[in-house]
Amino acid sequence: MADLEIAVIGGGVVGLAIGARLAEDHPQLVVLEKNEQYGMETSSRNSEVIHAGIYYPPGSLRARLCVEGREELYAICKANDIPHRQLTKIISASVPDDTDKLDAIAANAERNGVHLERLDRTATLALEPNINTFGSLFSPTTGIISVHALMDHFHRTIAERGGMVQTRCRVVGIERVSGGYRLHLDEQGTHSAFEAEIVINAAGLESDTIAALAGIDVDEAGYRLHYVKGSYFAIVPSKAGLVTRLVYPVPTDEGLGVHALLDLGGRLKFGPDVEYLPDRSPDFRVDEGKRPAFSASIRRILPTISDGDIVPDMSGVRPKLQQKGGPLRDFIIVHERSRGLTGLVNLVGIDSPGLTSSPAIGRYVESLLFG
Ligand SMILES: Cc1cc2nc3c(=O)[nH]c(=O)nc-3n(C[C@H](O)[C@H](O)[C@H](O)COP(=O)(O)OP(=O)(O)OC[C@H]3O[C@@H](n4cnc5c(N)ncnc54)[C@H](O)[C@@H]3O)c2cc1C
Repeated sequence: MADLEIAVIGGGVVGLAIGARLAEDHPQLVVLEKNEQYGMETSSRNSEVIHAGIYYPPGSLRARLCVEGREELYAICKANDIPHRQLTKIISASVPDDTDKLDAIAANAERNGVHLERLDRTATLALEPNINTFGSLFSPTTGIISVHALMDHFHRTIAERGGMVQTRCRVVGIERVSGGYRLHLDEQGTHSAFEAEIVINAAGLESDTIAALAGIDVDEAGYRLHYVKGSYFAIVPSKAGLVTRLVYPVPTDEGLGVHALLDLGGRLKFGPDVEYLPDRSPDFRVDEGKRPAFSASIRRILPTISDGDIVPDMSGVRPKLQQKGGPLRDFIIVHERSRGLTGLVNLVGIDSPGLTSSPAIGRYVESLLFG
């Protein structure tokens, strides 16, 4: 007989959302988090954007869970007073050639069930008079959220439903036992173990390591993660009013491109860029040497910004399955029955739009386990 029904490894927004969903019918649940607080890793180092679901390949988990998660997230925010704003976004063509690409983006979005409005140059400038534009797509459903308030809400929900979140508790071993898994824990030097029938791996940047602890060959399975840093530069407060919504360039093969982000306090920043790291010990400082490249990218959107108007801000690290220059990869969210690991669910490569998708990921994991 296991000690508990469910153990979720990882107290980021995804692990907490899964915990909150499952605790409703399965209160014998614990979320295990190695840090002193939940949500201290990727979940507190991101753009805090509620994405519409525009760019992801139709039919992918990213597309589906983003669209479902976005709707649910707005409902959760409204019902629980979680700070958020449906700020809207435009994807702006900053050179005439980019205008052709807008139609393809709108068509992809439509296949994902996301309607975008095509705006000509005049209509775009009526919304954002300070940007350089030849026309744009307007996304009415994009917004911003306080991810900390969202995680606090999931944390409270877990507790109210009878589950718990155990911090300072690192999972260091996973053993298959009859009826479940024995998890070996390191709680600041004190070692212990307990058994759970179901284990959910939502360990973010360490989710491939956790899969390996469960006996999976991560290279053979295609679970190996690459650490991809994204840095941001903030715009000086005197120029923070130059845009009033999120403004993105037309994406390239490299990614979405450095874009204009506003937070709930009205701060304007640009980012994140894409930097594949050579190892797995990220340095979160923003490299001052990136200033010229950043200010050049920013000027494509806001021509009046000079090098002196930007200051290094924050950075985050994406747990990416996609190799540098390699094909796009979808989220991996799998109940590992076919590997003989019934009761183990792995979530690997949950980079953007993981925050937006989090409530839908909770439902998806529930359906994988309980039908
Ligand atoms: C720069 C950047 C910008 C982004 N912008 C957006 C955005 O605007 N909108 C959006 O929807 N998404 C965005 N994302 C993606 C989003 O932030 C992530 O998808 C989401 O935060 C992932 O949450 P998580 O819970 O899976 O991971 P994490 O937040 O990393 O949580 C995993 C947790 O597991 C814990 N853990 C790891 N190993 C162990 C262990 N052995 N034992 C116990 N605990 C362990 C870690 O300490 C960590 O707290 C962005 C990401 C980045 C990097």
